[in-house]
Amino acid sequence: MLLVGNGKVVTRGKAGLLENGCVALEGKKIAAVGDTKALREQYPGAEFIDAGGKVIMPGLINAHNHIYSAFARGLSIKGYAPQNFLDILDGMWWTMDRHMNLKDTYWSAMATYLDCIRCGVTTVFDHHASYGGISGSLFAIADAAQELGVRTCLCYEVSDRDGEEKMREGVKENADFIAHCAKDTTDMVKGMMGLHASFTLSDASLALCREHTPEGVGFHIHVAEGMADVYDSLKKYGKRVIQRLFDQDILGEKTVTGHCIHVNGLEMDILKETDTMVVHNPESNMGNAVGCPPTLEMIHRGILTGLGTDGYTNDMFESMKVANILHKHNLCDPTVAWGEVPQMLFEGNPAIGARYFDSKLGVLEEGAAADVIVVDYDPLTPMTVDNTNGHILFGMMGRDVVTTIINGEVKMKDRQLVGIDKAAILAKCREQSTDFWSRINA
Ligand SMILES: [Zn+2]
Repeated sequence: MLLVGNGKVVTRGKAGLLENGCVALEGKKIAAVGDTKALREQYPGAEFIDAGGKVIMPGLINAHNHIYSAFARGLSIKGYAPQNFLDILDGMWWTMDRHMNLKDTYWSAMATYLDCIRCGVTTVFDHHASYGGISGSLFAIADAAQELGVRTCLCYEVSDRDGEEKMREGVKENADFIAHCAKDTTDMVKGMMGLHASFTLSDASLALCREHTPEGVGFHIHVAEGMADVYDSLKKYGKRVIQRLFDQDILGEKTVTGHCIHVNGLEMDILKETDTMVVHNPESNMGNAVGCPPTLEMIHRGILTGLGTDGYTNDMFESMKVANILHKHNLCDPTVAWGEVPQMLFEGNPAIGARYFDSKLGVLEEGAAADVIVVDYDPLTPMTVDNTNGHILFGMMGRDVVTTIINGEVKMKDRQLVGIDKAAILAKCREQSTDFWSRINA
């Protein structure tokens, strides 16, 4: 039994906000949430982590990330001078992933999951590509996730862009990994059928993907991130992207669509009726200058919408801050997005998690997963159950997370990693990325 107490507990459940609250963890699950004194009396002799008045919250979830982008930090590619989004894809991301071998993938994953722990992110949905080493890449990422103890849902981005053989290898990697996850009983690792995007997948390739996707598993795909994706679909198939994916039987309650920037009302109707999930990645959309998605409208229409980072950061508080100002800026309306942005992170992402993981995520209540974080935040104004999201939005960053517990295991305590040698991991990452960069620029 482990108690995390003497803090302000933001439960995200029926209990609301508990002053001087405590969470009791028994193995991988939460046994009780309540008053610190009462729980300490109920569980005498239990190990006690003293939050010292700080904020205790459920672990955060990232609904769309790219581990392959980790080694892009500081990278300069010879001759890279992008003019638009397609140039960025081909010149930067596809150039990187064409050179990425299994070791590059593994260490990119170690760096990413390490950062997630430090930012209080306990569950990560990743969308991976490494055309320089496809077979075994999801298994390499899963090894890193298991080593560091982070909950994760993985897939490989199948695409025709490097030829049919590699497309088929990508499908097989997904299928092998999904089969592996089906036998796993830890509830720490799940698999999906990853698809890059409509404009790099023919109907025949989509059919092959469908054929290798078992019942109960969905797809994870970028949708209408740039206008090029829309033009390609209109030109080749005479329909917009969501319509095409619907006709190809790709949508549904287990499918995650990233971005959905250039979608019209009819496409939103289809997303809603098929109960397809949408993940918004505000920083990435701004950085690639691809436009702002109609996120608020999608949420108002009842489409399950979550928040991701698309590899830009592992800090969900940062993504939340950017989402908050992006929609105000885009709509020239300072009154919007106050409710929808916290809803994406604190309700949307747990609901997305629930479609893959059996454990209840994103809430501190009896029976939920023992994924708990402590954030060093001392409010300068009254903090109540009604204004918690305002305090989080303006007062917290990932670096304020001091303690991270995943699946009942303490991964970081008072900002000290537990059983994880950060310096050694980062040294290895620098060594591997040096080698990776030299292969890219050879
Ligand atoms: Zn993405």
